[in-house]
Amino acid sequence: MPLLSVQGLTTGFLTAGQFVPAVIDVSFALDKGETLCLVGESGSGKSLTALSIMRLIEPPGRIEHGRIVFKGRDLLQLPEREMQPVRGAEIALVFQEPMTALNPVFTVGDQIEETLRVHGRATRRTARDRAVELLEAVRVPEPGRRLREYPHQLSGGLRQRALIAMALACDPEVVIADEPTTALDVTIQAQILDLLRDLQARLGLALLLVTHDLGVVAEMADRVAVMYAGRIVEESPVGPLFSDPKHPYTRGLLASIPGLVPGRRLKAIPGTVPAPGTLPQGCCFTPRCPSRFEPCPSAHPGITDFGGGRTVKCYLHGRAVEPATAPPGPPPHGPVPQPCPEQA
Ligand code: ADP
Ligand code: MG
Repeated sequence: MPLLSVQGLTTGFLTAGQFVPAVIDVSFALDKGETLCLVGESGSGKSLTALSIMRLIEPPGRIEHGRIVFKGRDLLQLPEREMQPVRGAEIALVFQEPMTALNPVFTVGDQIEETLRVHGRATRRTARDRAVELLEAVRVPEPGRRLREYPHQLSGGLRQRALIAMALACDPEVVIADEPTTALDVTIQAQILDLLRDLQARLGLALLLVTHDLGVVAEMADRVAVMYAGRIVEESPVGPLFSDPKHPYTRGLLASIPGLVPGRRLKAIPGTVPAPGTLPQGCCFTPRCPSRFEPCPSAHPGITDFGGGRTVKCYLHGRAVEPATAPPGPPPHGPVPQPCPEQA
């Protein structure tokens, strides 16, 4: 059984009484010690997927259906009181923008110590020493001094290290990192990726790495899930994805980064990702797809399974059609429906 599995996740927004999906029937699994990269252009639904796992979707956003099974329990069924010790302690999130994720009015040390104490991982007396250890683990020089500084006194790279230290404070089993290096320049970005890779190997973390950058994917991933307009359109171990991409979108992404330079933005596919509520009928990539043909605009393609962990949703590879209705299941936050006496 995988450590974490996302099954049929659909998340979106209530707009004028209408549910508009932005993450559509997303499924993937994450094993202990592996790195899965969720990749796609900006607006694909990557961050919403990450936030859904943490149950941090705020109204009018909502998780419409799906299961998020962590160590055998569906997190979407847990009362908030049981979700809190999971969030941050067992599954930690490293945000995209370290400046907004850190509180500007507290020192870095205060914030790490607070995390430790909230989750009962240290007492007031031991927290400072543990905070120093954590900053050492993320290779912050002079950790004793840095602890007394405020976020704005640190460089972007050091802030991201502090944030990673906070994420690691409670020995999580899963770390979700949402574009952890996007705000950093290329040299610092390489250092942070190197740090994440090292920590992951040393601590046996399962890492879900969200990125729009295939250079990062090439450096980091064991497996890759390619996301477009809310759906995972291709999933594959990293080697075969780069050597033999199946989906025209994946091919377009790869073509847009000659030399796979980390930090290069994905730009070369003409057009943009359609926004939620404006998705075209059929395969959402059709309007931008150089390989589109007759079945593409009718219904969204379903999954074609090549074996070896390779799947794709594209009519070039099979005639499977996506099931018209969402997979059945109880509403994630509502009561579990009881069978009516007439049905029983
Ligand atoms: P990504 O992380 O891949 O760039 P997101 O998950 O942030 O994409 O967003 C997916 C889509 O959902 C985008 O089109 C975005 O505009 C939309 N979206 C995100 N947050 C909200 C919100 N609070 N209200 C309405 N739409 C949103
Ligand atoms: Mg994002």
